Amino acid sequence: DSDPTLRPEAQPGDVDRALRPQALEEFVGQAEARANLRVFIESARQRGEAMDHTLFHGPPGLGKTTLAQIMARELGVNFRMTSGPVLAKAGDLAAILTNLEARDVLFIDEIHRLNPAVEEVLYPAMEDFELDLVIGEGPAARTVRIELQPFTLVGATTRLGLLTTPLRDRFGIPTRLQFYTEDELNIIVNRNARKLGVPAEDAGAREIARRSRGTPRIAGRLLRRVVDFALVEGDGHITHALADGALTRLGVDKLGLDGADRRYLTFIAENYAGGPVGIDTISAALSESRDALEEVIEPFLLQQGLVQRTPRGRMLAQKAWKHLGLHAPKRPDQ
Ligand code: ADP
Repeated sequence: DSDPTLRPEAQPGDVDRALRPQALEEFVGQAEARANLRVFIESARQRGEAMDHTLFHGPPGLGKTTLAQIMARELGVNFRMTSGPVLAKAGDLAAILTNLEARDVLFIDEIHRLNPAVEEVLYPAMEDFELDLVIGEGPAARTVRIELQPFTLVGATTRLGLLTTPLRDRFGIPTRLQFYTEDELNIIVNRNARKLGVPAEDAGAREIARRSRGTPRIAGRLLRRVVDFALVEGDGHITHALADGALTRLGVDKLGLDGADRRYLTFIAENYAGGPVGIDTISAALSESRDALEEVIEPFLLQQGLVQRTPRGRMLAQKAWKHLGLHAPKRPDQ
């Protein structure tokens, strides 16, 4: 089916790193978030204090990690990175926290997946820059309080709803990232094509932008694949015909949907006459985890108005029937 490396949740590799914007000025899109961050960064700099804890939430590949790195660079401090599932024990987090220098940025990806024992350690660390460590075991165990350097925690999550309330409440700057517009992605694709040294015609770049599911990470990946086709089967230029042909061969359709997206829509159309059908049924039938459906596949389909969430389950919208080239069945109540 479609290439799994094109999924937005795939791990960032060298390509991602090379194309990552380095400064807030270079970061395209998310205008509102960017304008606010600019103020908060500047204010922290003027006061010489750690910036407030910041939470980025939104679908994968929209720039959460990139913005965290940019914050550290603009604040002129170190950037430390870890993730919820990696921090298995309270001691793992304690080791990182005690090694932070004043005003550093600590980035915790997938922060909704923190172990509760680790999360407990985070509360006093975020609030008072203090760490309560238990030393020894049994009757000899005692607690020691360790002072931490003031730091900025930047959390990222694809699932805001899975964050505990006490954790959520400790972020002074919650920021939601949105899908990018075609124009914004067009700027990103053009810029990246230039960085890769491959000329892109306007219509060629725009075709990649249009089919990137509103997501810069996907735009970067699709561009790389189109460049492969341009070099091997074309004359090294990204023309509209070349981009269109390459994307179609990669299984990316005119709306930017890939094989997994279309399987989701087709399943509801063919097996449930358009729904409603429960998410767990879809998950079992497609052998995709419920998390993957809710975090990766559904947000874009909902945003595009292809699918609706109802209390009784997911339903195909008219636009999805049209896109699949199928007719919606007549319903008895219509
Ligand atoms: P997330 O952490 O939200 O999953 P990342 O920050 O890892 O997303 O971004 C994924 C890729 O998309 C990176 O290669 C990054 O360079 C690129 N990217 C993200 N946002 C932008 C942007 N606004 N402009 C240009 N490139 C971007």
